Amino acid sequence: MGSIKCTVTECHYNKDVMCDAPMIQVNHRGVKYSQGSEETQCDTFKPQK
Ligand code: SF4
Repeated sequence: MGSIKCTVTECHYNKDVMCDAPMIQVNHRGVKYSQGSEETQCDTFKPQK
């Protein structure tokens, strides 16, 4: 997987402002067709323990 920069440092998979998950899933956020990044979300997010 290519490098994914992510500023969601409260995520379990975040390591030094990068995503360290083996894969991520990104879905629409509340709409059927996203028209901007604000209408997408990372569903792989998991809170830190
Ligand atoms: S799983 Fe999603 S929210 Fe968590 S670090 Fe990776 S890209 Fe960011």
